[in-house]
Formats: sequence, structure tokens, C-alpha cells
Amino acid sequence: MRDLMDAIGSIISRIRGSTLIDEETLRSILRDLQRALIRADVDVKLVYELTKSIEEEFKEAKELPPGLTAKDYLVYLLYRKLTDLLGGDKEPDVEVKTKPYILMLVGTEGSGKTTTAGKLANFYIKRGLKVGLIETDTIRPGAFDQLRQLAERVKAMFFGDPSLGNAVNIAKAGLSRMISSKADLIIIDTAGRHRNEEELLSEVKEIYEAVKPNEVMLVVDATNGKQVGAQAEAFSKYVPVNSIFITKLDSTAKGGGALVSAVKTGARIKFIGNGEDIEDIEVFNPRRFVARLMGMGDVESLLDKVKAMEEEEEVLEDIETGKFTLLTLMKQLEAMGKLGPLSRILQMLPMGLMPQLKELNDDQLMNAQDRMRKWLSILRSMTKEELLNPNILNASRIRRIAKGSGVTPRDVRELLRYYNEMSRMMSSLKKSQRRLGSLFRRFSI
Ligand code: GDP
Repeated sequence: MRDLMDAIGSIISRIRGSTLIDEETLRSILRDLQRALIRADVDVKLVYELTKSIEEEFKEAKELPPGLTAKDYLVYLLYRKLTDLLGGDKEPDVEVKTKPYILMLVGTEGSGKTTTAGKLANFYIKRGLKVGLIETDTIRPGAFDQLRQLAERVKAMFFGDPSLGNAVNIAKAGLSRMISSKADLIIIDTAGRHRNEEELLSEVKEIYEAVKPNEVMLVVDATNGKQVGAQAEAFSKYVPVNSIFITKLDSTAKGGGALVSAVKTGARIKFIGNGEDIEDIEVFNPRRFVARLMGMGDVESLLDKVKAMEEEEEVLEDIETGKFTLLTLMKQLEAMGKLGPLSRILQMLPMGLMPQLKELNDDQLMNAQDRMRKWLSILRSMTKEELLNPNILNASRIRRIAKGSGVTPRDVRELLRYYNEMSRMMSSLKKSQRRLGSLFRRFSI
């Protein structure tokens, strides 16, 4: 994964370092992205779809929200599209909800199943579960010893008895042993090799039918790149593949392809393995993964801005639909707060929106900012009902609110006057004029 990380990192630096994202720069940045993803073994068609959609959305965004530069927006699009490619913003659910929970691991030989069984046992034992491991692989020499040793190391229960002859018998015997020992989670490791694929898959199916697991987890080796999808398909002809564990992401340049191909199967990638040690296991969260791929800090501050922008959109929508309440005002003030100090927000406003605002001196700005803070604390002292129906604000409520926010009743009345004036104004303004500008005007005079 290092290669992909480096490549994405240098793409981000290129975006940040460009003076202007014009057509040519955009094209060349997206070409770099295509190259990086194809080198990581991501399916070519998907790569082109991805870069095309970034290009289109970037060009379509005519009016960027205040606080977001074209460069920010491109980085954000990259983040969002890569996250979507890796399964969107849902975090996989790795909680064990029913007990005993039977988890069956399947996968080809060498994919890392046995190691993974140990990692999973360790992961859940640390979360307070009682875990039992069952080895049913009678083909690979050493599989029993390997898992028994891992079980000892992580303090899991272990069952394995090659003398029982076949995998199904071992699975059944192991299961009843683990159930009577009150295991919360029972992990069954299966063989990855047989004389032929047909035999292997038939055995997997037989074990599946004998133990009726709650979940079948396919263990795939990231070194296989985009071929992991085909492996998943082969297995899912015999047993339902509910989830995927991708191993060896640390040791291959093809990790990107493996991940994307696994996502395409529709089964959820729950974990990734990034090393040979028992601790090298990670819950797979597409958002966190992409954020790391891109350099964490960069994305986080950007997401804050985008969130503020979305809140601002919500406010506009409230206004559009004639729902300008004190709650709308509060949301608007909060969104502004997230965009940074007033002086900086003013610099981001499009020229021409509020020409007189650009000429404010520092004192006036400080005053505006103080008032903004004061009003926010007044609004936060109101109940939801008051925020939604300002008409109910009588003298005693105003006194209570003033006390709660450490201001005088006069301050509260001033805010209410402003609100009334503003709601009148809002209904007569055009959308573009209603943007933050109208609010600034009031704060700065
Ligand atoms: P099995 O045949 O599917 O049971 O595979 P094993 O558990 O024996 O693993 C095969 C090899 O892959 C071993 O050398 C493991 O140490 C190694 N392995 C497993 N998971 C990972 C991983 O996440 N990263 C790396 N680098 N090696 C791994």
C-alpha cells in the first residue's frame, strides 16, 4: 500500500502547490491519479469512471461556498470518490450480537486463514469475549499445531483432532465442545487446499451445512489484486460469503485493486491484515482508510469546512421554504463560527457581494464578532420551543434567557428585533443575496 499512499500524497501536494486549477492542470492531476490506481491493480474501467466523475463534478461546481477554495474542493472530491469506491461511509459492524456466534473462515491455501483466525481470536478476547478456535484442515501439515500455538498465545480455547478423519466430523465435535464450554465466539478454520478446487469447495459446503455458521468470512490475500473478486465468486457458488478479510495489505502494491474488487462483490470488507503479527489487524473503515491514504490532517480540516457549508445550505433551505426561525439563525451563526474568524470569512466573500464590508476596520470587526458570540449564547439559552416559535417569548422568558446567558434583557430584545427585521428582509431577497452577506451587514453596522 505504500506505493499508492505515496502516489496519492504527491497528487495532493500537486493540487496544493498549483496556483490555479485550470483545465490542463486538472487533466494532468487526474492522469496521475489514473496511473496510481492502475498501478495498484484497480480495474481500469472503474478508474476511468472515477476520474471522469471527479472531472465532471469539479467543473459543475460553479459557486463554491465561502471558505472553500477550488483546490480544497478538488481534494474533497478526491476524498469522497475514493471513499465511495471503497464502500462508502458505512463502518462495518464487527459486534458479536448473538451468542454463541459461529464464524467460519474460508479461503485458498496461503491466504492467511490460520494466522487470521488467531488475530480475530485476539481481537475479540480483548473485547471481553470467550473465544474458541477449531481447526478442521486435515490436508495442510502443521495447520493444527499452528492454530493450537496461536490459541495458547492469545488464551483462546482450542479444538482439533485429526484422528476423527474428516473435516465435517472435526467441525461438529469441536462445535459441541465449544458450546458446552460456553464460548461466546467460535471460529472455525477450514482447509485451503485439496486435490482439486471442486473437492475443496464441496468440503467447505459440507462443513457449512453441518455447523450452520452465523457468518462465513472469506479470507483473501491482497497480493492477488483485482483477482480477489473472482475468488469470492468461486466460493459464493457453494456458500454465502457474508464478509471479507483482506490479508497482507502491508506487503503488496496491489492492495488498492484487492480492496476495490472485494467491495464489488457486495460482501462487506470487515477487517484488513497489515502484518504477520497477531496484533496486525484493523477494522476496515473506508473513510478512515482514505483519510490516511491522503494524509489525515488535510482531510479533517477540509471536512469541517464542508460540514459548515452543508449547514449553511440547510439554513438557506429553511429560508427558501419560509421557515426562518431563531433556530435557523442559530444554525447560521454556528456555521459561520466554524468557518473561522470574521475577518477571514470576509476575505472569502465574493467581491461585489458586500463591498462596504471589505472596508471595515479592525475595531468594527471585533464588535461584530463580539455581538455574534453574544447572540449565539443567548440563542443557546433558549428552549427548542422558543427557538421555533419566537412569539411565545414574553417578559419572564426573556429575563430567564438573559440570566442564563449572562446578558441583559435588553440584549435579548435587540436580538429579537434583529430577527424580526431579518425575517421580513429574507422573504423579499433573492437566494444569492441571502447568502451570508445579509447577516454580515447587520453585524458590522
Ligand atoms: P493459510 O494457509 O491460509 O492458513 O495461511 P497462513 O495463516 O499459514 O499464512 C500464510 C502466510 O501469510 C504466513 O507466512 C503468514 O505469516 C502470512 N500472513 C498472514 N497474514 C498476513 C498479513 O496480514 N501480512 C503479511 N505480511 N503476512 C501475512
